[in-house]
Amino acid sequence: MSAVVCPIVGCPPANSNQQQTTTFPACPGGLYGQKNPVLQNTLKIIEIFRSLQGESLLAGLPCMFIRLAGCNLDCRWCDTSYAAKGDGAETGISQITRSVKDHGDSAVCITGGEPLLQPGTSRLAEQLLAMGLTVSVETNGSRDISVLPRGVIRVMDIKCPSSRQCGSTLSSNLPHLGMKDNIKFVIADSTDFSWAVNFVEKYELTQKSAVLFSPVILPEKGQQTRNPDILISKARQLAEWILDSGLQVRLQIQLHKMLWPECHRGK
Ligand code: SF4
Repeated sequence: MSAVVCPIVGCPPANSNQQQTTTFPACPGGLYGQKNPVLQNTLKIIEIFRSLQGESLLAGLPCMFIRLAGCNLDCRWCDTSYAAKGDGAETGISQITRSVKDHGDSAVCITGGEPLLQPGTSRLAEQLLAMGLTVSVETNGSRDISVLPRGVIRVMDIKCPSSRQCGSTLSSNLPHLGMKDNIKFVIADSTDFSWAVNFVEKYELTQKSAVLFSPVILPEKGQQTRNPDILISKARQLAEWILDSGLQVRLQIQLHKMLWPECHRGK
C-alpha cells in the first residue's frame, strides 16, 4: 500500500501501512489531526492577553486575544513571527475559556499565526459563542473558513504582492463572507494599492463584506518598526489613494501600534 499523505497539511502518517482513518498526533491541523479527538480538545497557544482590539470593525473595544501557534505562510512584513514559528503550549479548550471568562470582556479574538491550521479552533469558537461573547477569528485566507461556526466574525486577509504571499487566498472562501465579516488588505506601496483595487472590483467585495485597507511599514534589513510617525505618513498617503479611487473601502490604522509602539507582543 502506498503511503497516505495528509492532503491539507502534507504530513505523512506515522506508519505508511496505516489507513487514512489513522490519527496522526504530530500533524498540526490536517486530516489526521481532524480525526484525533485529543487535538480537537486542545490548542497550541502562544499567548492569551487583554488589550484593545486594534483592527477590524471592532477596533477600539476591550478584547481578549487568544494567539495560536503556527502558520503556513511567511509574509515579508509579519509582525508575529514569534507565533508563526513558535511551538506554543498545548492547552485544553476548557482552560482557555476559563481564562477568557475571568476577564469579563464581551469580545474575544482568536488569532495567530494561522488559527485554521488547528482542528480545535472551530470547537473553541463554538464554546466562546455559547458564552454569549462576540467572537472574531483572524485568518490569512488560505484555509477553508466554512469550518467556522455561524456567528463568528471572520476577519480575512487577502495577501498583496509586497507580502510575497500573493495568491495564497482560497477564492472559494469569498462566497462564505457576509456583511458582518471583514476583508483586509495590508498595503505597503502603490503596487499593492493598485493590485488591491483590481481585486476588490473583480470580486465586487464591497457588496459582500466590509473591506479594510491598512498601511504597513516594510521591514528594513529584516528589522520591523512600529514608528507611529512613519505609520501616520503611510496612512495619509493611503487615504489620498482611497479618496482618489472612489472605492468604498475603509482606511484602518492598527490602533495598538499607535498606542503601544514599543510593545512587540501582548498588545
Ligand atoms: S499569515 Fe499572518 S502570521 Fe502568517 S506569516 Fe503572514 S502575517 Fe505572519
